[in-house]
Amino acid sequence: MTPVGTDSRPPAGSPIKAVHTVQALRAQVDAWRSKGLKISFVPTMGALHAGHLSLVRKSTTIADRTIASIFINPRQFSPTEDLETYPRNEEHDLKQLAAQGCDLVYVPSRDAMYPKGYQTSIVVPELSQGLCGTSRPHFFGGVATVVCKLLNQCRPDLAVFGEKDYQQLLIIKRMVTDLDIDVKIIGSAIVREKDGLAMSSRNAYLSSQDRATAGHLNRVIAEVARTIASGARADEALCRGRAALLSTGFPSIDYIEVRSADDLTLLGPGVIDQPARVFVATVIGKTRLIDNWPIDKNQ
Ligand code: AMP
Repeated sequence: MTPVGTDSRPPAGSPIKAVHTVQALRAQVDAWRSKGLKISFVPTMGALHAGHLSLVRKSTTIADRTIASIFINPRQFSPTEDLETYPRNEEHDLKQLAAQGCDLVYVPSRDAMYPKGYQTSIVVPELSQGLCGTSRPHFFGGVATVVCKLLNQCRPDLAVFGEKDYQQLLIIKRMVTDLDIDVKIIGSAIVREKDGLAMSSRNAYLSSQDRATAGHLNRVIAEVARTIASGARADEALCRGRAALLSTGFPSIDYIEVRSADDLTLLGPGVIDQPARVFVATVIGKTRLIDNWPIDKNQ
């Protein structure tokens, strides 16, 4: 294992270096920075799938060194959510990260992130309203707080986030602008299963029947997006989309909406003439699924 604080790259196939403290993380970051290397960061909660790994691959193409973090952030789970049962597979995650060319993994403990006496929260109030903010009011404050801490700890030049969590991506962009955090936030396209279901660590919770139903979610919102892109009224397309979801076996729909791709302003009911996306969330079994699809007039 390469000692912390050096800038050399271990040979391909070596076990990845994992650090658990801010001090060890910064020693490595400082060593790389002193060599003029550009550093990119990919925060995750682990249980990695091809979606996460695509962010790591993108990161390796835009920076000289890539750091991933694995931290299941308790502040973004409500007491009734799955904090203690959230999928964990650290050994496998580390191997996958190494195979993608990730240079360092930061795995802080809960106590190190939120020691006794910890009090501070970051809230991005307007962007956190609506969509997932309505049914998960605790969520985006927890996300913004942990991402702010991780960015301060790591001080990367770039950080890569998935468009799968589009509201989160815009919240993080707003936060780094508002707080003058010197990092460029890069969005990365959604990676999907063969049937189009957006990859998610929580898909592992789905029964085989629910998994089959889940595969319709992207198909329906893609159709809604295409219909709106071709000039149909948003309210009519959404109404048909809602009916299609209920008839394919989704017990209920949390939301299906068209919003601005730039600032999440609710759009419609008529024709859409600005960059926009269709956003959807539903719960099937005990699993919450979210997805979004661009409304692209050129598709
Ligand atoms: P998580 O581990 O769920 O907190 O996700 C860590 C990062 O991976 C976030 O930036 C997510 O948006 C991103 N991500 C999760 N699933 C996907 C996916 N299917 N495609 C692209 N990015 C994803």
